[in-house]
Amino acid sequence: MMMQTPLTMTQMIKRAEKFFPKKQVISRTSKGIVRLTYKEIAERTRRLADSLQKLGVERGDKVGTLAWNTHRHLEAYLAIPCSGAVIHTINIRLAPQHISYIINHAEDKILLIDADLIPLIERCKDELTSVKAFVIMTDEDELPETSLSPVYHYEQLIASGSNDYEYPDNIDENEPAGMCYTSATTGNPKGVVYTHRSNVLHSMALGMADSIGLSEKDVAMAIVPMFHANAWGLPFAGVWFGTTLVMPGPYFTPKILAELIEEEKVTFSAGVPTIWLGMLKELEEKEYDISSLRAVLCGGSAAPKFVIRAFEQKYNIPFLHGYGMTETSPLVVVSTLKSYQEELSYEERLDLRAKQGILVPGLEIKIIGQNGEVAWDGKEMGELLIRGPWIASEYYKDERTVDAFRDGWLYTGDVVTIDEEGFLNIVDRTKDLIKSGGEWISSIDLENALMAHEAVFEAAVVAVPHEQWQERPIACVVLKENKQVTKEELLEFLAPQFAKWWLPDDILFMDEIPKTSVGKFLKRALRDQVQDELQK
Ligand code: ADP
Repeated sequence: MMMQTPLTMTQMIKRAEKFFPKKQVISRTSKGIVRLTYKEIAERTRRLADSLQKLGVERGDKVGTLAWNTHRHLEAYLAIPCSGAVIHTINIRLAPQHISYIINHAEDKILLIDADLIPLIERCKDELTSVKAFVIMTDEDELPETSLSPVYHYEQLIASGSNDYEYPDNIDENEPAGMCYTSATTGNPKGVVYTHRSNVLHSMALGMADSIGLSEKDVAMAIVPMFHANAWGLPFAGVWFGTTLVMPGPYFTPKILAELIEEEKVTFSAGVPTIWLGMLKELEEKEYDISSLRAVLCGGSAAPKFVIRAFEQKYNIPFLHGYGMTETSPLVVVSTLKSYQEELSYEERLDLRAKQGILVPGLEIKIIGQNGEVAWDGKEMGELLIRGPWIASEYYKDERTVDAFRDGWLYTGDVVTIDEEGFLNIVDRTKDLIKSGGEWISSIDLENALMAHEAVFEAAVVAVPHEQWQERPIACVVLKENKQVTKEELLEFLAPQFAKWWLPDDILFMDEIPKTSVGKFLKRALRDQVQDELQK
């Protein structure tokens, strides 16, 4: 028999302090770049845990954060769960009524807020029912003017906390460690609660060579916001492994990110496709040395093939496509090729890598179509079901749990195919699929084809109701600056790639495509916009 030592997160920061005291966290602040060693981060984390306890945070209490990706947010990421409380990372881009909803729903006791985000909370402070105090994370010595009360200065709390503080050693691995709400496209956001055990196991999965192989040797930059599924787990795994972490801070631009990659010699980074699209544009305009990157990870929405091609062929940077959800911690599949697939032609490899990839060890999937489990032929479509130790089993105090979690499986609402080699391809979200004449059209496939045109910057395809066919696709296109192309030319460009009935009924040119709070195309708003446009 083996020992039953608990999989708790305290081991992450303890290991970083003991084995990697000299390794650094590099944080972009309003006062420039701040460099802290893991020795310093570990000390500040202990002091923060002690101060929060003195402010009344008890075991199991929720502490909310409204913050950018900075060293302070990282300290909160560790201090809160390691002291037995629960960190609730609040999406700063949610609508104000959703921000107050999730703070009240989670029953956050204390909020840690970046100074520039104070107005977000001032606006809804009268609706908050559980918050007892506000801690302001600022680069200034003084607290800013605010109507929030009582307020504390983060750095003063760190200074007053004890470095002798000890994390409780009786945390059960199944105790809650963190919370994140999915950005709501309809209704209120739904809460997911991560446990110590799920965060530890998910971090291990990030270290596997065939997933993203995060290691001590990496300089990892978390571009994904820390309120979006734990920045995809990079901060936890990074601390545990002694990885150098780069925190890009507030209001970053592609230029700032490219400079950080060049200056800090970033080896690994992760972001949604719109991040990488923006980065490509920046790289076209100005030369940067980004050769330190050993790989980038892209997920959250489908990565267009031309983006993968550009990173790999123009800049020689392996581009990993991955898939996950807030409910799945998030890592589920990554597009790493099998050894014998490396011998395929570049185009064949690209076709595979444009799919979302292969299931990481530790999880199980099932794909259910109209006649039970689908064939592994890359064609038959079905809904993806997932289960495993870092997959949510319910939504926090939410009756929508019954729809998404059934018989021990998470019903993802994503329609997928799986090929003979086990490569999963996300066809669409169920609600974004276009149902035309009893058949399905993938909005993602059309978008990717359009974005491969040299004049197109962004493209999103949505369904509009149709009398005869039920629904038909309409494409919305944003052109690159100084580029021109007509609707007819784009349709001609698509024609050889798709069956005729897949081709959009119309192509609308727009200045921009509405995006969700985490940078994905906001299809619901776009559908409304398209309807209005077509009725003109
Ligand atoms: P939200 O629901 O707030 O957008 P999530 O990040 O949890 O936030 O979204 C998860 C969803 O994003 C998945 O269910 C899937 O529809 C989509 N998604 C994630 N990764 C990919 C990908 N690589 N390709 C296509 N869709 C993806």
